[in-house]
Amino acid sequence: SDPRAQNPRDVLHSLFGFPDFRGVQRQVVDRVIAGERTLAVMPTGAGKSLTYQLPATMMDGTCIVVSPLIALMHDQLRAAEAVGIRAATLTSVDENRAETIDRFRAGELDLLYVAPERASNEAFRNLLRAAPLALFAIDEAHCVSEWGHDFRPDYRLLRPLMDAFPDVPRLALTATADAHTRDDILNQLGIPRDGMIVAGFDRPNIRYRIAPRDNTTRQVADFIAGQTGPGIVYAQTRRAVEKLAEKLSGNGRPVLPYHAGLDPDVRRRNQAAFVESEDMVIVATVAFGMGIDKPDVRFVAHAGLPKSIEAYYQETGRAGRDGDPAVAQLFWGADDFARARQRIGEVEADRQPGERARLTALGALVETAGCRRAILLRHFGETPPERCGNCDNCLEAPKSVDASVTAQKYLSA
Ligand code: ADP
Ligand code: MG
Repeated sequence: SDPRAQNPRDVLHSLFGFPDFRGVQRQVVDRVIAGERTLAVMPTGAGKSLTYQLPATMMDGTCIVVSPLIALMHDQLRAAEAVGIRAATLTSVDENRAETIDRFRAGELDLLYVAPERASNEAFRNLLRAAPLALFAIDEAHCVSEWGHDFRPDYRLLRPLMDAFPDVPRLALTATADAHTRDDILNQLGIPRDGMIVAGFDRPNIRYRIAPRDNTTRQVADFIAGQTGPGIVYAQTRRAVEKLAEKLSGNGRPVLPYHAGLDPDVRRRNQAAFVESEDMVIVATVAFGMGIDKPDVRFVAHAGLPKSIEAYYQETGRAGRDGDPAVAQLFWGADDFARARQRIGEVEADRQPGERARLTALGALVETAGCRRAILLRHFGETPPERCGNCDNCLEAPKSVDASVTAQKYLSA
């Protein structure tokens, strides 16, 4: 079909049933349809899939979607098929591969989901030459970078594969990209600098609060006492979860633990109870929250330092999805940084610079006397105002700094 014969907006309405594009979706879709190589950096839940699914239904040929996990692919496949998009997966576990290949060759697929390993498969390369291609969409594109938090060497095979089809547009997608990782994605996937679109990271209804820790249990308990509605408390280890859940219990609202060491039935029950509840506190490891749909979480507290700014953003982002006011409270200690530094010393040497950069960025976030949101948004490539008016540092008079002491420290250094 001729893309000019259809309007992306009409397809959005008729196929997806959405009234409007969100954020930068339209911008990305327009670039893709125009054949321009693009990197879209959009937060989780912003609707990245639509930016290749929609063009795929408008363009001739198939969009090859590279995705790192088979489970993820099958979820996406079901979702795409549910709206009437012609899609298939081509993985080692699929039993209908011959049929999928026939449909692909005949130009009867809008989307074909594959794992990055396919790129090194000669038969797959030949198959691509024999079928009409619309687009390469590289999901979770940060996997191509050693600076990223999820490096997958197979992603490096994608550049040579795509270079064999220079006229097929490419779209890389990621939610998690600091400046280093972003540059690396552009280089590794052959996308020009001006092809990057970054947007939509601000969560204005979340109030960010960050404080040093002296007595974690008391601080978390005091914090919770001042909050209403359901909330999540993240602790770093299973043991810490158990301990904290026990100590927070008996203060008038239900408290349940959640971590991977619990019996699966208990875990499911606790999660279900939380999703239903209007006042429960769930104390959990970071394993909790992925794929949970609870828009009215009113607060997320961290009893210790998260792994990275990306992780912090992701975890705090589970609060206030309904748009109503929510609070993200982090308690951190110098020992968190000491432990993190020790862990970095134990990873492979070539991953250490990335890990160190991630820790430094976290340090800047927790230690700043300036706006927390400004640091977060700049981290994700946005240009925020100097002050957001909805974080601890913007709301409270800055603690008076003894300028002479600070100055002396620098002068003597
Ligand atoms: P991401 O991959 O960026 O995390 P998804 O592509 O999985 O996000 O989309 C998240 C949710 O947003 C999905 O339920 C999707 O149907 C929905 N969505 C996407 N675009 C729109 C839109 N324009 N209007 C309303 N909902 C949308
Ligand atoms: Mg996605």
